[in-house]
Amino acid sequence: MQPPSAADPSLTTDVLIIGGGAAGLSLALRIADQAKVTILSKSSLKQGSTYYAQGGIAAVIDAHDSLSSHVEDTLIAGAGLCHPDIVEYTVSRGKECIDWLIKQGVGFSRDNETAAHDAGEHYHLTKEGGHSHRRVIHAADATGKAVFGCLAARVLQHPNIKFAINSVAIDLLTGKKLGLDHNNCLGAYVLNEETGKVATFSARFTVLATGGASKAYLYTSNPDGASGDGVAMAWRAGCRIANMEFNQFHPTCLYHPQDRNFLITEALRGEGALLRLPNGFRFMPGYHKSAELAPRDIVARAIDAEMKKTGCDCVYLDITHKSREFILEHFPNIYARCLSLGIDICTQLIPVVPAAHYSCGGVMVDINGQSDLENLYAIGETSFTGLHGANRMASNSLLECFVFAFSAAEHIAKKLDHTSGFDQIPPWDDSMVTNSDEDVVIAHNWDEIRRFMWDYVGIVRSDKRLQRAKRRIELLKKEIHEYYSNYKVTTPLLELRNLAVVAELIISSAISRKESRGLHYSLDYPDLSDTVADTILVPPNFTIPE
Ligand SMILES: Cc1cc2nc3c(=O)[nH]c(=O)nc-3n(C[C@H](O)[C@H](O)[C@H](O)COP(=O)(O)OP(=O)(O)OC[C@H]3O[C@@H](n4cnc5c(N)ncnc54)[C@H](O)[C@@H]3O)c2cc1C
Repeated sequence: MQPPSAADPSLTTDVLIIGGGAAGLSLALRIADQAKVTILSKSSLKQGSTYYAQGGIAAVIDAHDSLSSHVEDTLIAGAGLCHPDIVEYTVSRGKECIDWLIKQGVGFSRDNETAAHDAGEHYHLTKEGGHSHRRVIHAADATGKAVFGCLAARVLQHPNIKFAINSVAIDLLTGKKLGLDHNNCLGAYVLNEETGKVATFSARFTVLATGGASKAYLYTSNPDGASGDGVAMAWRAGCRIANMEFNQFHPTCLYHPQDRNFLITEALRGEGALLRLPNGFRFMPGYHKSAELAPRDIVARAIDAEMKKTGCDCVYLDITHKSREFILEHFPNIYARCLSLGIDICTQLIPVVPAAHYSCGGVMVDINGQSDLENLYAIGETSFTGLHGANRMASNSLLECFVFAFSAAEHIAKKLDHTSGFDQIPPWDDSMVTNSDEDVVIAHNWDEIRRFMWDYVGIVRSDKRLQRAKRRIELLKKEIHEYYSNYKVTTPLLELRNLAVVAELIISSAISRKESRGLHYSLDYPDLSDTVADTILVPPNFTIPE
């Protein structure tokens, strides 16, 4: 370590938010009138999942709906593991969040036939899987884009907010690491992707809003940045991580070398599309009486089982029996996207695979988004609040981003006057490392982790497969650590290092759950256990919060 020096004042802030998706942008806007805020984002502005969210945001808006109904639906989806107090809290703040988004200027789709908003504005509400009422407010089929565009524009106009793109947080700065008496979070080391230099960001409050970890799997609907950085940084800083075994898989993601992140909506099956093996055989009737319309996790498991049994790379969705007019009217986006890849869905089958879609587990936080480490918060997909339990209900995830951005902002505001920062932080020391001349190692290890996670820790698990994955990740972690210690950091290396931590946490969590519940399905323990408990992983450097 180099000797401490006063931190660069331009990098000193009140609130450092790592991540510029729905959660990070909302928190910034909620606190910026009272505090100076810096938001960090990897590469471009559109790196997070928020931009790609299609369906919408769940909230009780319709006069015929009720908070108790939304609570009940969420508890049912969560298969016994939701924290009822958190579910009630989240659901109760839904309408307030939507009103705020409307005030910010988000253009939700309107519907004069559906009386939805008490201000006299009528918004169209859709009904998604698990919801017993119409309660999903949306902006056509591109809600994330509308929300992101509006909030990002507001953030860029705010005089108290700095938005630093191409900035990748490497690790959190803690009192313990700096040898101080008090262990709290003091900011982060951050890589500037353009210059390759590492800067020290000192902050009174630090917020992880880094999104999910679905990039740990070979196939995912998430954009490239979803490498679980927040979870890995929090774990290394001594925070507990919970329920990482519950990763939601979407059954049908396009399988194409040029486009691996495109979801094929369930509505296609809703309108009659059939699932077929490469030889044309329709397999879903053998798995469930509702065949292609079985619940999402059952369809994903059936596809996975067929792919493992037959060794095929993908299965196919077939909507060719519908007329071209019907397809163009109902699925113009899917039609256009597939056609751009040379697939005319009116005459050809669509290659699909299940894909990792959403991480239910994450950094353990309380109702304020506060983690185990003082002045460190986690909000959005990177956090574990207790809302989702063993399975996330559709459109509750964006809701959680807003509700916990609100509560974290309120908590930080109360502490602003009596929380000081620390600016005598040693700069990043890279005097002993060199530029890597073997980047192939990074690419190879990335690939290896994501492939064995898919094969051994995916939709269907067994003790044997999980133990195999555990042996592999232990070896890889050593190799990656050696590499990290000897070479200058780059984004792929940092993501690989984080991915390895996240993979290990998912494997450990899956090994410790001796039952099948929600999204975790084990061939060795196919039944529900009588013991209902979260999987809480405690890092070796954990200290009980004061
Ligand atoms: C295709 C798709 C469709 C979806 N549809 C819906 C839907 O209809 N309704 C719904 O409720 N949910 C939906 N979801 C889930 C929902 O979009 C996400 O859970 C939510 O957007 C997560 O928001 P977030 O703010 O937590 O993180 P994200 O939006 O993922 O943002 C993460 C941010 O963190 C930054 N970041 C990450 N690591 C670092 C680092 N080390 N340093 C600096 N910055 C970092 C990224 O650059 C990014 O800015 C969908 C997800 C996908 C992928």
